[in-house]
Amino acid sequence: MSSPISRYNVIVVGGGHAGSEAAAAAARMGARTLLVSMNLNAIGQMSCNPAMGGVAKGQLVREIDALGGISGIVTDQTGVQFRMLNRSKGPAMWSPRAQSDRMLYAQKLREQLEAIPTLHFRQDNVTQILINDKKEAYGVLTQTGQELLANAVIVTSGTFLNGLIHIGEKNYGGGRSGERASKGITECLIEQGFEAGRLKTGTPPRVDGRSVNYDKLEEQFGDDDPSPFSFLTDKLPGKEEQLSCWIGYTDPDVHDMLRTGFDRSPMFNGAIKSTGPRYCPSIEDKINRFADRDRHQLFLEPEGWNTYEMYLNGFSTSLPEDVQYKALRSIAGFEEVIMIRPGYAIEYDYFPPHQIHRNMETKLVSNLFFAGQINGTTGYEEAACQGLMAGINAARKIKGEDEVVLSRAQAYIGVLIDDLVNKGTEEPYRMFTSRAEHRILLRQDNADLRLTQIGRDIGLATDERYNRYTKRRSDIDDLTKVFQDHSVRPEVYNALLEKLDTTPLKQPIKFPNLITRPQLNMWDMLEVDAELKEKVFAVSSSKTEIEQCEIQFKYAGYIQKEFEMAEEMSKKEDMRIPTYLQYDRIHSLSSEGRLKLEKVRPETIGQAGRISGVSASDLAVLMVYLKN
Ligand SMILES: Cc1cc2nc3c(=O)[nH]c(=O)nc-3n(C[C@H](O)[C@H](O)[C@H](O)COP(=O)(O)OP(=O)(O)OC[C@H]3O[C@@H](n4cnc5c(N)ncnc54)[C@H](O)[C@@H]3O)c2cc1C
Repeated sequence: MSSPISRYNVIVVGGGHAGSEAAAAAARMGARTLLVSMNLNAIGQMSCNPAMGGVAKGQLVREIDALGGISGIVTDQTGVQFRMLNRSKGPAMWSPRAQSDRMLYAQKLREQLEAIPTLHFRQDNVTQILINDKKEAYGVLTQTGQELLANAVIVTSGTFLNGLIHIGEKNYGGGRSGERASKGITECLIEQGFEAGRLKTGTPPRVDGRSVNYDKLEEQFGDDDPSPFSFLTDKLPGKEEQLSCWIGYTDPDVHDMLRTGFDRSPMFNGAIKSTGPRYCPSIEDKINRFADRDRHQLFLEPEGWNTYEMYLNGFSTSLPEDVQYKALRSIAGFEEVIMIRPGYAIEYDYFPPHQIHRNMETKLVSNLFFAGQINGTTGYEEAACQGLMAGINAARKIKGEDEVVLSRAQAYIGVLIDDLVNKGTEEPYRMFTSRAEHRILLRQDNADLRLTQIGRDIGLATDERYNRYTKRRSDIDDLTKVFQDHSVRPEVYNALLEKLDTTPLKQPIKFPNLITRPQLNMWDMLEVDAELKEKVFAVSSSKTEIEQCEIQFKYAGYIQKEFEMAEEMSKKEDMRIPTYLQYDRIHSLSSEGRLKLEKVRPETIGQAGRISGVSASDLAVLMVYLKN
């Protein structure tokens, strides 16, 4: 059954982090879009930790924002604590992280979505993707029997597909705590020839903050002068106005208590068969794998401004509830703790991501896009950036416009999607800085300089965003010129240089030649050099703009080298491989190489080179074949 109001350009299935970004992007790019989700009250729900960003994930949120997405704006609006991680390391490692107010996050995200006139909402459970004989998706069928039609469908079903929740020996169907599982989509896609797999993730118990003895924990404050996630945010609450997190530790008694439940643990008794996130193990997994360690760090994190509920980061578990309780109460500071929600693990279906193209569209069915946890990733940020790219590409496809694919040298988003498509994943994939070979270029501080022009060209970056970006870009250019032209004189700098234990100047040199010394930083130099400070502040007093110049000068050598390598790589990306290529006809390919190329069907030589199992000689064979 279909009704007159059931025809859309784009339908997004699921209102999680991927779905929200997908729907916002498609709708803002002019597509009449429907967001259909099982429970509209749970749009933007943070299923696990109420926190955004962190190492490499913070960079993803900055990139989403730079392109015109919404996650960064909402994070700034709803953070209760903001920290820049890794400040002691080089700028490529700096990563913003925010502790969010869980309920406010969902509310503000929904406000962002409802402000988009071309975005419509429906609470319903999608049970089938409608696919015609030509293998094109044309809509969805819902549990209420509605046929909703669209030119493109984006599935962002998260942990819901045939979700199975485990707590000790108990297990039951569910998409996450308090919500039911989604049935039908997996089965209908398998029927179309898709390959599905099963993954697992877990979450810790939530406790009543009033029952914790904070004297036994270490307080962790937010930053004094926090850095926003969104390039549209001017100011965040200072340290005094933010909430604290708390650090505690497990000890051998806690470990012994946890071990009493191992025989009833679904992790160890075979009830859970699928693979979980290696880098985010459960507490039982940690004490089992690292048996020699007598303590593990825990972070007690607030869930919001107006609740005493707290999240115990580091204590993810699916042990029986009674064991969770006893183990919790043996942690120093938690002797009287009251548990509000037990921890649990969940198993769910995903679709190994070699089945999608780099524009997020599936290879088997056209006009069908996958984004988020369904592609085997874990994390809100990983999901949100895929949603954004799926929304962009679905909207562009139906307008007959070229796909937007970010390269590995342009964005972490490019790295993530390229990894998924070429390498696939058999365990929940999360982003790390080490995954990005050009990470010195992909810093959180320059996400707008890398991506906002693209956001503008595709119609996502608003006037306000674009004006801010162009002003920032021109300020940075003007500042760069000021610094390049400025001569630093011995009489101005030598006292500082001697204090910092670095060789004094014998004659004036240009500013860029001095700032490369590791002992020096921009602010010390401006402090001693009144003339330079005056010239700089006449152009801009923006901390982020001045710091941008500092990074550009300090790391100029590395940045230049990285640009050259990226340039080299991009030449390979320009060599396209026709989609109809029959690899079985290329006899000189190794059999593993042929198999992998057949499976992934790379679109470029560069992409082919990143597929594990495709050797350098396979690549050479392929290039010769293509030339002929
Ligand atoms: C128990 C648990 C533990 C986790 N632990 C971690 C962790 O340690 N670290 C980490 O980074 N991430 C963790 N996550 C993952 C994090 O929650 C997800 O990565 C992220 O939310 C994925 O975003 P998504 O948009 O893909 O899916 P989700 O946020 O799960 O959203 C999916 C949406 O789709 C809707 N939906 C599903 N099926 C249908 C259907 N058939 N019809 C209509 N609507 C549908 C749902 O209602 C929901 O709104 C955990 C998640 C859970 C549940």
